[in-house]
This record gives sequence, C-alpha cells and structure tokens, in this order.
Amino acid sequence: MNEQGLIDKLRTMLDASRRAVVFTGAGVSTESGIPDFRSPGGIWTRYQPIDFADFLASEEMRVESWRRKFATEPVLRAARPNRGHRAVAALVRRGVASSVITQNIDGLHQASGIPEEKVIELHGNTTRARCLECGKRFELEDIRAELERRGRAPTCDACGGLVKTATISFGQPLPEEALARSREEALACDLFLAVGSSLVVQPAASFPVLARRSGARLAILNREPTDLDGLADLVLNMEIGPTLGEAVGVE
Ligand SMILES: [Zn+2]
Repeated sequence: MNEQGLIDKLRTMLDASRRAVVFTGAGVSTESGIPDFRSPGGIWTRYQPIDFADFLASEEMRVESWRRKFATEPVLRAARPNRGHRAVAALVRRGVASSVITQNIDGLHQASGIPEEKVIELHGNTTRARCLECGKRFELEDIRAELERRGRAPTCDACGGLVKTATISFGQPLPEEALARSREEALACDLFLAVGSSLVVQPAASFPVLARRSGARLAILNREPTDLDGLADLVLNMEIGPTLGEAVGVE
C-alpha cells in the first residue's frame, strides 16, 4: 500500500472508532525541537538526568541535578506543540480519543489544549516541581532564584522534604495511578493508536499488547519500525505531524 493508502486507512480506522486511546512517545516531540534523550549527541548526553538514588544521596548531586535541569530549560521553554500534537488534540476534542497516554515529560499535549485530566503522564512532567514527601507544588522560577542566591537545592517550606522536578527519574518507580489508568484505558478502547514510540520501554510497551488482546485494533505510527509491528492492524513508518495531520484533517 502506498503512503496515501495508509493514511486513508488510518482515517477510516479513526472514523470507525467509538473510543480510541492515543499513546505518544518522544517522536511526537522531536518535531517540536525536543531531542530524544536516548539518541546520542543531544543535550541529554551533556546534561544527562541524575539517577534517583544519587539525587537522594547528596546535596551536591541535587544541586548538579538542578543545574542540568536549568541548562536544558531554554530548549523546553522554546518548544511549541506541532501538527502532530494538534491532531491528537483534535481527536480528544471531537470525542474520538478518551485520553492520551504519554511517555513525554514536556507538557506539550496540555499546551496544545488537551485538558489536564485527559493526559496520563507515565514519566511525569518537567515543567513542574514538587516535594517528594508531601507533594506540595513549587514553581521552577522560585527554585532557580533560590539556587542562584544560596547555591542550595530547594527543600519544602511545609515539611522540610526534598523538592524535585515532577519527572520520574531513572530508578524511581513509575506512578501507580498513571499505570492503573493506562491499563484501564487500554482495556476499554476499541482502537489503540501508538505514535512516535519505539515501544520497547516497559511497562509502557505492554499497553498496546493489552489493548490488542482485549479486542481493540492497533495502529502504529513511527518513523522507524517497532517491536510490535507484527501485532498491529496498521503500521505507518512515516513522519508524524504531516501523517497524523492529514489523517485527522488538521493543519
Ligand atoms: Zn513537603
């Protein structure tokens, strides 16, 4: 089937769906200029995130962790939702997609207009910070000012706990609630659309399998082949924004 035929088939599948779930990975955000942290040579190589155990272990590592966070901040701050994000937002707005499960931490789905409660973030969100003990939310700008003024990593003014970006670091358990909701969505959908993910990281990669086994159709849109292509009803190895934009009818 040629590319146009594949896009038409994706449109037909979306039109036929009564409850779709969209699952997104780094590939959606690379088109907004956010590099995939697993690819070599990018900003994440120079400013690799600190492991959770190291963050907990010393003040020095916490300061370094925040230093790296703020070094990568301009890239994140400049990023805007792209055509792929807009297409996903249109699917949610039209009631085709019940929710979006994402591995991305950049908040661009929310920035594209999807309500907060419809975005399930498996790896957290780097645009926010919170206390690891009591969960109190902190603004990044306040933390930056504190870091520059005193050279110290922030602690919670309510309970004294450590404050960290609201992302899930390596070595930190994935959020139970997000995992449970993702499983529910995978079981309840009739179409699981995986976009921009290589579908290798567990347990994220288990959701398309779960959906497929419970009778949903599976469509995969990713520039490169994925491990789950053999399981899918439709595979599109194409650019994400232009492809999804055309299938959904969004510029
Ligand atoms: Zn606290």
